[in-house]
Amino acid sequence: MTEQATYVRTETVTLDQLTPYPGNAKRGNVETILDSLRRNGQYRSLVVREIPDGPLIVLAGNHTMQALAAHGPGDCGKHVTTGRGIRPCGICQNEPSWEPHARCELVRCDEDTARRINIVDNRAADLGTYDNDALVELLSYLDEDYEGTGYTEADVNLLIAPPPSLEELADTYGDPESDDFWPVLKFKVPPETRDEFYGLTINSPNPNDDAERFRYLLDRARSTEEPVA
Ligand SMILES: [Zn+2]
Repeated sequence: MTEQATYVRTETVTLDQLTPYPGNAKRGNVETILDSLRRNGQYRSLVVREIPDGPLIVLAGNHTMQALAAHGPGDCGKHVTTGRGIRPCGICQNEPSWEPHARCELVRCDEDTARRINIVDNRAADLGTYDNDALVELLSYLDEDYEGTGYTEADVNLLIAPPPSLEELADTYGDPESDDFWPVLKFKVPPETRDEFYGLTINSPNPNDDAERFRYLLDRARSTEEPVA
């Protein structure tokens, strides 16, 4: 048993022979992977630890395995529609006899290395970032057919025209005013009540501002209140 992974061979393995990595912490998006497998086929092998006379344990690709399991045996009845026409599902080829299996790279390593591989394979993907311009350019070559990319049209539109940052909003609209967060009163009244409101507040210092008129009315109401005994 070596302290680093040693490649043994590549093999097609039925899912019932594979063991998910015990305690895998990543919760992947199985639906996106399934869409990709249907459209693109299994382009990457699972990385599987072979233990002599022991189980085959999936170190990397656990969610690809889950997606293949979710597809299930037989013809899924789904097709792939591309700009060039309709073709079979990239997983089952619409064959009724298809049995769930995965192409696997078998490696040998010790327990500690197996754990490290499982952890870093998830972590390294999380730590990556994007060159958004490069991403937008790549997506632009797809003729708005984003199936099997994990992106929707709405995602792409957000990449092309991201929502403005708070700084940009402040540049456009100025810094927020303290009264931006004040409550707004809005209610329906009969026309005569509105006329009465305007009549009673005609001497408000700023008659063009209903908020001023309302405060003026409150002041008047307060000044005529009966003193509390
Ligand atoms: Zn299928």
